[in-house]
Amino acid sequence: MMQQLPVMEHFYTLQGEGFHQGRAAYFIRLAGCDVGCVWCDVKDSWDATKHPHMTIEDLLTAVKETPAQLVVITGGEPLMHDLKQLTLTLKNAGLELNIETSGAHPLSGNWDWICVSPKKFKAPLPEIMPKANELKIIIFNKSDFEWAEKYATLTNETCKLYLQPEWDKASEMTPLILDYIKKNPRWELSLQIHKYMNIP
Ligand code: SF4
Repeated sequence: MMQQLPVMEHFYTLQGEGFHQGRAAYFIRLAGCDVGCVWCDVKDSWDATKHPHMTIEDLLTAVKETPAQLVVITGGEPLMHDLKQLTLTLKNAGLELNIETSGAHPLSGNWDWICVSPKKFKAPLPEIMPKANELKIIIFNKSDFEWAEKYATLTNETCKLYLQPEWDKASEMTPLILDYIKKNPRWELSLQIHKYMNIP
């Protein structure tokens, strides 16, 4: 039987953050998250039972109704689900596949790009860190810079490093981030440009 996954929302838009910022992408936001970030902007995603289940075939059909070439699987915490079958199906359809995860659950699936955004509320599993193509640290307060460096040491040497201000703290944290990046140029700035543009 075809696997079903709880889906909070799925839509075609532009990736607003990180390395692939500005690219057209089909977002699939899977429901379910047990990480519990206090500043989470998608708290509705936490309870997977509140969201409809979709078959992988239905998700592929939805993606194929658009010209999308890139699919971003996000959440929630998408790795609460086994994503092997989803990635196999989307890959067989010729799609490029990125995941955005806190890393707090075992990695499943076959990915072109793994963005790990560790959270203080539930630490990532150590084995995922060397596999990250991108490390994205949300800066909520000053102590987060030191915390960011701790995770950077766990990544591989080609991993892209991003600091992103938490949205509600952006006016306070962005100047600190700019200053930090100038002193530590391996890091780059990630802004949630979709929020500035008011698109999903
Ligand atoms: S990991 Fe993501 S979805 Fe889960 S609580 Fe944190 S910000 Fe929200």
